[in-house]
Amino acid sequence: MVTIIKMESVNDYLRENNIKPSFQRIKILEYLLGTKEHPTVDTIYKALVSEIPTLSKTTVYNTLNLFVQNNITTIVTIEEKEARYDADTSIHGHFKCENCGKVYDFPLDISSLTANKLDGFVVKHQHVYYRGFCKNCVESE
Ligand SMILES: [Zn+2]
Ligand SMILES: [Zn+2]
Repeated sequence: MVTIIKMESVNDYLRENNIKPSFQRIKILEYLLGTKEHPTVDTIYKALVSEIPTLSKTTVYNTLNLFVQNNITTIVTIEEKEARYDADTSIHGHFKCENCGKVYDFPLDISSLTANKLDGFVVKHQHVYYRGFCKNCVESE
């Protein structure tokens, strides 16, 4: 029962953002909304393929691209070769630990960042990435 309710709200969320809610799209978005891990295409594929045997990595990739185009997902590319996805589209910073590979969210006061040399420019995306070692890794040293 709980899953059905959840499915329906994800369904509405997709419709509100002009995306036709197919079963696979619903499943992918549901997964993304339920995780703080900033998963890659691979991670999402592996997590869902047992439940959706017809799923392909290309479908996951294309679906995520569609979400990004419709602004319901943010693409996080701290590492050039590793695109991660985040269904939290509010402005926040990302910290990637170079030891455990985890990506952490942190709140960001974007109003304190000044970019006055960009007067007259149209800013469409703002990303703040930090890299280093997370607290867990520092403490277990
Ligand atoms: Zn770490
Ligand atoms: Zn995030």
